[in-house]
Formats: sequence, structure tokens, C-alpha cells
Amino acid sequence: MQPTATPASPFPHMLAPLDLGHVVLKNRVLMGSMHVGLEHGIGPLSKMATYFARRAEGGVGLMVTGGVAPNSAGTTMPLGGKMTHRLEAWQHKVVTDAVHEAGGRIAMQILHTGRYAYHPFAVGPSNVKSPISMFKPRALSVRGIKKTIADFANCATLAQRAGYDGVEIMGSEGYLLNQFIATRTNKRTDAYGGDYANRSRLAVEVVRAVRQAVGPEFIIIFRLSMLDLVEGGSTWPEIVDLAKRIEGAGASILNTGIGWHEARVPTIATLVPRAAFTWVTRRLKGEVSIPLVTSNRINMPDVAERVLAGGDADMISMARPFLADPDWVLKAATDRADEINTCIACNQACLDHIFSRKRATCLVNPFACYETEWQVHPVKARRRIAVVGAGPAGLACATTAAGRGHDVTLYEAAETIGGQFNMARKIPGKQEFKETLRYFGRQIELTGVHLKCGTAVDAKALLAEGFDTVVLATGVQPRRLKLQGIEHSKVLSYVDVLAGGKQVGERVAIIGAGGIGFDMAEFLTDPHTGTLSEDPLDASLDPASAEAYFEEWGIEQDPSVRGGLKKPAPPTSPRTVHLCQRRTTRPGANLGRTTGWIHRATLKSRGVFLHSGCEYTKIDDVGLHLFEDGEAKVIEVDSVVICAGQVPRRDLLADLQAAGQDVVLIGGADVAGELDAKRAIRQGTEIAAAL
Ligand code: FAD
Ligand code: NAP
Ligand code: SF4
Repeated sequence: MQPTATPASPFPHMLAPLDLGHVVLKNRVLMGSMHVGLEHGIGPLSKMATYFARRAEGGVGLMVTGGVAPNSAGTTMPLGGKMTHRLEAWQHKVVTDAVHEAGGRIAMQILHTGRYAYHPFAVGPSNVKSPISMFKPRALSVRGIKKTIADFANCATLAQRAGYDGVEIMGSEGYLLNQFIATRTNKRTDAYGGDYANRSRLAVEVVRAVRQAVGPEFIIIFRLSMLDLVEGGSTWPEIVDLAKRIEGAGASILNTGIGWHEARVPTIATLVPRAAFTWVTRRLKGEVSIPLVTSNRINMPDVAERVLAGGDADMISMARPFLADPDWVLKAATDRADEINTCIACNQACLDHIFSRKRATCLVNPFACYETEWQVHPVKARRRIAVVGAGPAGLACATTAAGRGHDVTLYEAAETIGGQFNMARKIPGKQEFKETLRYFGRQIELTGVHLKCGTAVDAKALLAEGFDTVVLATGVQPRRLKLQGIEHSKVLSYVDVLAGGKQVGERVAIIGAGGIGFDMAEFLTDPHTGTLSEDPLDASLDPASAEAYFEEWGIEQDPSVRGGLKKPAPPTSPRTVHLCQRRTTRPGANLGRTTGWIHRATLKSRGVFLHSGCEYTKIDDVGLHLFEDGEAKVIEVDSVVICAGQVPRRDLLADLQAAGQDVVLIGGADVAGELDAKRAIRQGTEIAAAL
């Protein structure tokens, strides 16, 4: 089952076929299950069909849909996607037909949310409420359990009828089957509670019932929680025992689940080193004979190849990387890995959208999940376009416009492209941002953009060129505060620190607790800053990087420890840091839905002092003077770092407009407030699509 290398292939282990007996998958890449918001609706699921067909065209070996519930109680939310009768199976037929026409294969994930259901009809092994849901579940009766098993089997049969190549039974991430397995959620004393054999009985019976229902020639993937990362999770010997019984019950593939949703350990965010959890899957090698899939933070072919060649797994699973680039496999297979638009694991446009009940898309690929609504067409009349500023907005605009056939010149004042992303990637855990710049750099070459770095262009030079349109993507400049002592030598801006390399003292106050203020606090409190490689792959290979992450978040590699948890040992900060804001709300309340908690927990564990309701009065030799909740205070510091937002940089606008030049503003140059790269890239792409 271990892939045999095909020497001619650039990624021989990853691109080797996988023989499941009744079917051969064309490579070792699985697109993992992910809710994107296209999974339900009235009538055929056409948008979902186009979305998956596009990924099938890109060459992925097997895809898994977002979770579909086997009954109403198991849905994620009221009216959430389920498959309980023929009409729902018929809705999916358009998906499987489109995927098969595109040469792909697809399995439907059967997901029973159990106590994670966001509705009042939630059920579970016991009536133990989840810390991340407001609804207390009703404990299933034995009759209810038998009915649930039958519902799984019925759902799988309907999926087969809908044309799916298989199903994935969700047994991890803290959903229903996982809830039965763990003592933290299973308090039963009957045949489905008590010892491990009883607690895992439901998972095994579900797999057995599904196999009986669908026959031998249908893929059954079981997603097994191999590292729960919660108190009361399984031990490794228990996991091995369950894996064997799941295989015996008829599963064709075992996929790896890492961490329950309620775990307080980040497992997929950008700070998690690449391929940080493949050692977990590797432990199961040799214990079962069916293929093992590994997952979490694998986003580039060289990482996938290393994992497979090293024998950690038989197949790799990636989900978000296929939002970022549907042609991921195709590019790898044709020796164009440098053209891959890499998922930077930011969660900003995918998971954060889903948790805000919005359709998912992707920060680096705004076309994702909008395949039926948004395409870019070649131009009929070629125009000469100048784009000023090679930050995310300007890069997206210039490469999209040139890709359509326009003659585009991109001016950048700095010596390299990237704008503020060059500062972002210096933040520990944000090294991935460099990949976006590599991608755009390659797109500039491929689309024939005339790049002029080191050129702080002015209005006169632009007008002299006679461009048809000038796009100003000149970004932002830090807001200048009117505060006594703002010119003091101890005052620095985030640009001074991250771009200018200015030294920061041991006692620091940061003014401004937005995204950049939090990043600055992490930068200043991380003892590894500047010592680990900035290259994402190097960083992920650096044992210090993975070890530092395991220690900081309390991940135990000793297989005998239940749940894989140990006492977190956050690094000792080299500085004392105070993070201040004027608002009276909780600092960091506006950070990302799925990542904000990580940043707040990081600062807490590193002892950063948070100050809300601040009114700054002056900065002097002693430090920062302020009123905090009306009380006068002095924070004695050596440095004050200003992270108080930005204003648009539009110095060229008036002269260009006065000369009658057609001008468009994008990104931070357009609106600086609440600007992020998601908006900058989307707006740059939209403008280019319309030029
Ligand atoms: P910019 O990135 O500011 O680029 C403008 C470019 O124009 C600059 O390169 C500048 O040199 C150039 N320029 C200006 N005038 C001229 C001229 N006359 N001639 C030629 N060139 C000119 N966003 C997120 O979404 N997620 C994050 O996690 C995140 N983290 C961040 C962390 C840090 C530390 C920082 C500083 C920012 C972060 N951001 C993040 C914000 C994100 O980087 C910005 O929203 C984004 O860069 C804005 O893009 P832009 O193209 O509008 O402007
Ligand atoms: P921001 O999020 O708007 O935060 C600015 C901070 O400055 C706030 O704390 C604000 O809070 C304070 N402030 C504003 N005006 C001030 C004034 N006159 N005096 C003193 N304090 C003032 O902006 P940012 O931190 O500069 O980040 C820029 C953008 O980059 C953000 O919109 C964000 O989306 C993006 N970003 C995202 C991430 C991410 O992880 N997703 C990370 C970094 C940056 P008070 O008014 O309460 O003091
Ligand atoms: Fe990856 Fe961010 Fe895109 Fe989500 S939004 S797919 S995490 S790059």
C-alpha cells in the first residue's frame, strides 16, 4: 500500500495510484471534507456541482463533501443538510454526475453532530452540554441508538443511489460517534457506556451496518480521532484497538482526526507548523492493513511528498488548499508547483465565513465557491494600464488584468513586491504569507506584467506615459497620533519595528489592540522571533518550531497519555508588554471568529498586560501616562509602539484627477478602515475583471 515511487514524476509518492481493490484512485491526494455553504438548498445542488467539478478537473484523487446528516437530530443547524429520503439523494445527483464527467471521484461525508448541533433537538450519549453550544443534548435511548445506526445505513444507501463513490463516516472532531467514545461525554451505564469496548460499540456498529447496506464495492472512509486533545479522550492503545475493529467492520480507508472542536489547542491555524501531526498517523502504520490518510497543515506538494515518502501515511488529506487553488494537483503533476496559490491557513474567508453563516470563499482566491457567478474573460480591446503599488490589492489587480490581455505596468516604491505582507510574514506563525508573494511573483512573470520595483512613481511620470487607466493601490500609512511626547525617542511605529528593524526595549507599551497590535505583542513576546527560519517549509522542518508549538500548547506525544494533552509550557517572554486600547470592550473582540481565541490565549499565557478604556495623556522619560477607567496611571516602559490603525495613502490622486486621468482607487488607498488582505485582493480582482 505504501506508494511506489514513479521516478519520472516530480512528486512520485504523492502521484502514485492507490488501489482499493474494487477501485483505483489516481493519486494519493484526498480533498478533505469542508462545509462551504453550498451544501443545501431547493432543487439540484448546481453550485456545489460546479465547485466540485472544478476541483475534479484539477486532478485530485478523491474528494469528500461537507458533512450531510443522517437524520434531523444530527444536522448542524435547523434545516441543515441531511440525506434521509430519495428527494435529497436526487438533489445530489447533479454533483456526482458533474464530478464523474470531469474524471473525478467523490464520497459524501455522513456527519451526525450529536451535542454540537446548533438546535434544540440535539442528542448525545448523555445529556452533557458542550462548552461551544448553547443547547443541552437529550441522551439517546438504546432504541434511539438503534434508529441512529439504521439512519446512517439509510443515508449511505441514498448516497450510493445519488452516485457517490463512497461515504466518509465522521467519527472524530468531537461529533456524535466521538462523543460516545470519550468518558467526558459518555456517562452511560448500558451496553453503549462504561468500558472502552462499550463506548466504541456505536462507531463499529455504524460501520458494519453501512457496509452491509452498500455492499463490498463502495468506499467507506472512517475518520478516526487519533488525538482528541481534550480531557477524557482516548489513549493510544484504545485507538489502535478501535482502528482494528473499524477495519474488521468493513471500512476501506482510515482518515485521521486531530482535536475536538472544543479543544483549546490550535490544530489548523497558520501558526501550526506544516505537517505537525503526521507522526500521529504514522503510529498506526502496521496495525491495520487498510490505507491511512493523514491531515492538518499540509499545503504544498513538497510537504506532502516528504510525508508520504517518509512512510507516515498512504494518502494525504487537504481541504482549504483546494479553495485556494483548484488546480493544486495538476500544477504539481506538471512540474508547476511554483504556480500554486498556497493556502496560508488564515481562516479569514473560509471558516470565519461559515461560522458567521456566510458562504465560504478564500482570501487568496476570491473565485472559490463563486464558480457559477464569477468568471474572468479575455479582453476584446487591449488597454494600457498602470497599477501603482504592489501590495495585495495591486498584485491581484495587475496580474488579473494582464491575465485578461491588458498591457499592465506595475510600479512599486520598495525593492520587492508585497506591501504590508512583508511585515505580516515577520510575525511568528505568519511565515506562510510569503507563499502568497511567491505566487504573485510567478503570476507577474506568467501574465507579462511589466514590474518596476524601486520606483516611487509620481503623477507627472504617470501622465507622461499616457496610460488609459491608472489604478492607485498605494495602500496606507500609519495613523499619526496627537499626543504629548509623541516625538520622544522611545516612540516607534509598527513599521519602524517590523520593516525598519528598530530595537525595542524590555518594557513595552503598545498603543492600539487591533490585529496589528496583537501581532506586535506576539512578535515582542516570542523568544524565537528572528531565530527560526522565515521560510515556511524550513520552519516546519525545524524541530525547534514543532517542539516549541507542542510545548506552548501542551501536546503530549507519549502514547499512554489520555487525549494527548499535557500541561502547556508557554515560552518565557523576553519582554514585559502592555497592550492598550481606548475601547472598553474585551481586547481582541474583533479578531477572526475562529482564530481570535488563539491570539487572546497566546497573550494571556505569555503574561501580556491588557488595558481597556485607556485615555492617553503623554509619553515621557518615565513611560506612558494614561487614565484607565478614569484612574490616572503611568506604565513605566522603555518603548512605546504605536499600532493605532492607518489612513489611506493617496498623494497622487489630486494631480491625476486634475489632469483628467481615468483613476481607480483600490485596497487601503480606497478605504483604510477595517482593511484586510481579503478585501484588498478581492477588490483588486473585481476591478481588474471589469477593466
Ligand atoms: P499595502 O499592502 O499597504 O501596499 C501598498 C504598496 O504601495 C506598498 O508596497 C507601497 O510601497 C506602494 N506604494 C505606495 N506609494 C507608491 C508610489 N507612489 N509608487 C510606487 N509604489 C507605491 N491582513 C489580513 O488580511 N490578515 C492578516 O493576518 C494580516 N496581518 C497583518 C500583519 C501585519 C503586521 C500588518 C502590517 C498587516 C497585516 N494585514 C493582514 C493587513 C494587510 O497586509 C493589508 O490589509 C494589505 O496589505 C493591504 O493591501 P494594499 O495593497 O491595499 O496596501
Ligand atoms: P485596527 O484593527 O483598526 O486597530 C487599530 C487600533 O488602534 C485599535 O485598537 C483602536 O482601538 C486604536 N486606535 C485607533 N485610532 C486611535 C487613536 N487616534 N489613538 C489611539 N488609538 C487608536 O487596525 P490595525 O491593527 O492597524 O490593523 C489593520 C488591519 O489589518 C485590520 O483591519 C485587520 O483586519 C488587518 N489585520 C488582520 C490580522 C488578522 O489576524 N486577521 C492581523 C493584523 C492585521 P481604540 O480606538 O479602542 O483605541
Ligand atoms: Fe486558506 Fe485562508 Fe483561503 Fe481559508 S481563506 S482557504 S485559510 S488561504
